[in-house]
Amino acid sequence: MSDHPHSDSTRDNGSAQDDTATPDTAQPAFLQTLAVQPPLDIAPGFASFSPPTHRGSTVVFRNLAELRAHGDKSTTYWRYGLHATPTSEALCQHLAQIEGARHTLLLPSGLAAISLVYFGTVKAGDDVLVPDNVYGPNRDHAEWLARDFGITVRYYDPMIGAGIAALIHPNTKLIWMESPGSVTMEVADTEAIVAAAKARGVLTAIDNTWSAGVYFRPFDKGIDISVQALTKYQSGGSDVLMGAVLTADSALDARLKRARMLMGWGVSADDCYLVLRSLPSLPVRLAAHDRAAREVAEWLAQRPEVARVLHPALPDCPGHAFWRRDFSGASGLFAIILHERYSRAQVDAFVEALRLFAIGWSWGGARSLAVPYHVQTMRPQGTWPPAGWQHAGELVRLYIGLEDTRDLIADLRAAMETRLAG
Ligand SMILES: *Cc1c(COP(=O)(O)O)cnc(C)c1O
Repeated sequence: MSDHPHSDSTRDNGSAQDDTATPDTAQPAFLQTLAVQPPLDIAPGFASFSPPTHRGSTVVFRNLAELRAHGDKSTTYWRYGLHATPTSEALCQHLAQIEGARHTLLLPSGLAAISLVYFGTVKAGDDVLVPDNVYGPNRDHAEWLARDFGITVRYYDPMIGAGIAALIHPNTKLIWMESPGSVTMEVADTEAIVAAAKARGVLTAIDNTWSAGVYFRPFDKGIDISVQALTKYQSGGSDVLMGAVLTADSALDARLKRARMLMGWGVSADDCYLVLRSLPSLPVRLAAHDRAAREVAEWLAQRPEVARVLHPALPDCPGHAFWRRDFSGASGLFAIILHERYSRAQVDAFVEALRLFAIGWSWGGARSLAVPYHVQTMRPQGTWPPAGWQHAGELVRLYIGLEDTRDLIADLRAAMETRLAG
């Protein structure tokens, strides 16, 4: 980091490192000054695999010309710890390389990343199209914009494909996609949606959290913006909250970056460090989740209690053909629809009887999770159940962690046999 302003600022502080130019009179004489500016002598040359964690609110400039040269890339790049540090920059570049993007903006949560896309791309009078199966808090955010910010929001059937063209209005500025969709897992024909959007000059954004940017490559498909909840697989520890907005276009990145700055959003270097620490194992963890989840999903597909398994890699999942066309793998999150003879109370009892599956939000860590959903009340546009289904019982979303699948299957079997008998 030789271009970091901190790298030679020690000279002005009377550091003992600069023993040629510093007269003794520049050395602090009093203990309180020594306590604040101790002359340190740290040997250079330490090398390790771990990226340095640069914390800092104040960024130190070598002179006033540098401080005043705001925005001039030829001088100091670093301005203020909120906007970027070498640690956050390392994470940005690492994430962009994984997903095939050119620019990354980090946000304090996945939801903040979603919010940045809205505030960075639309204004009062604009129109947004959102899939009806979108991540719940994204829908709540859209409703807030519609109610209080003069933006119109319309929801579309996630299986609409090329039919989206008929929904695009002259003031439509943004089309959201999420594929597979939250909870119900429909895989969208993103190719057709992007083609329709491009024909009308509408920006497209995808919440690509499920694939972690590994199994689905949005920028190869012409999608403008990808959102990642790094909270999930990129962290992998069920401990960090962070989000990212990735783009391949510099002008779009600049627009979003300005919104991020105006809203004062930043992330801690310590959290960046934790995510950086997990990234090298991301592809192998995903492969393990994929293998295990498909094994459990295939076992569930044989059970009489289960009406349907909604796993993108299995043929019963709406849009399975698009998964085969567009994805190079599947991750650990999928859903099952239980037979409609089971009441909500019975399905709740089944979930609570599980011993190895914890009840909780978020996923992407080592521990398996289960949450029941009453989807009928989550799809106000009437896009559930999908066209052609005779029935739709209660849904349970499962996240398959890194436990041995033999134990997970035994747990599911025991809970089904005791709570879903008859
Ligand atoms: C978890 C999640 C988010 C939000 O991430 P947070 O960091 O929890 O705010 C957004 N989209 C999807 C699809 C998610 O699963």
